[in-house]
Amino acid sequence: MSDKDTWNRNMKTTGKPSANIVLISEIFFSLQGEGPWAGLPAVFVRLGGCVEPLCPWCDTAYAWSGGERTGTARILETVRSHSCRRVVITGGEPFLQWDSGLKGLHRALASQEYEIQYETSGKVIIPSMPDALVVCSPKHIGGAWCFKEDNLGVVDVFKFVAGGTDWFERIDEFIARYGIGPEKVCIMPLGATRNEQIRNTEPVFTYCRQRGYRMSPRLQILAFDAGRGI
Ligand code: SF4
Repeated sequence: MSDKDTWNRNMKTTGKPSANIVLISEIFFSLQGEGPWAGLPAVFVRLGGCVEPLCPWCDTAYAWSGGERTGTARILETVRSHSCRRVVITGGEPFLQWDSGLKGLHRALASQEYEIQYETSGKVIIPSMPDALVVCSPKHIGGAWCFKEDNLGVVDVFKFVAGGTDWFERIDEFIARYGIGPEKVCIMPLGATRNEQIRNTEPVFTYCRQRGYRMSPRLQILAFDAGRGI
C-alpha cells in the first residue's frame, strides 16, 4: 500500500492523520544559503502547506499546495542517500504538521544523531526541542508582525531580511517588544535579485554593527540571481 493510501485509510477509519506520514513538497541536497548555517551543506526537507496570512513576496509559494504524502521510512531513506549529517526542515510552515507526522520524523532523525535545523515563520506554535536549532523568520504582513508570542522561549535565532530605515525600525520595534538579546538576531540584506541584495548589503552591515547583530548573506540569490538554484 502506498503512503498516500495508508494516509487515506487512516483518515477514513480513525478520522486522524497517520503519525508517520508527512506531506512533502521536495527533498534535495544543497548548501544552506542563509542564517546561522550559511554556507554549510545540508539535506533540505521541505514540507507542504502554509498558514494564513500568506506572504505576498513568498519565494516558495509552490509549497503552499500539492506535495506528496510520504512515510517517515521513505523520507529517512532519501535523507540517508546523501552523505550529509545535517538536515534543514523547512516549508511552507513545517510545524503545521508536528502532530500529524513531523514529530515522528523529528524523533527518527534525532535518534540517528542528525543535526537538525527548523525554518519557521512562528505563525503557529513551535514545540520545545532541545535537539534542534529553531530559526524563526517573523513576517510583517499588512502592517503587523504575525508571530505567536508563546514561541519566544523556543526560538534559537530570529532571522530578518531588511532593506533600509523602515525595515530597521520595524525590526527594532519587534526586538524591543519581546526583549530579544542581540546574540539571537541575524539580519540578511533584502533582495530577490543579486543586484538588490548587493545594494542592501552596506546599510545592513552598518545596522548590524551598530546593534551587535549577526549578518548573513542569502547565498542562493548571490549564486543564482533570480533563478531557482538548488
Ligand atoms: S511563511 Fe514562508 S512559506 Fe509561508 S507564505 Fe510566508 S514566506 Fe511563504
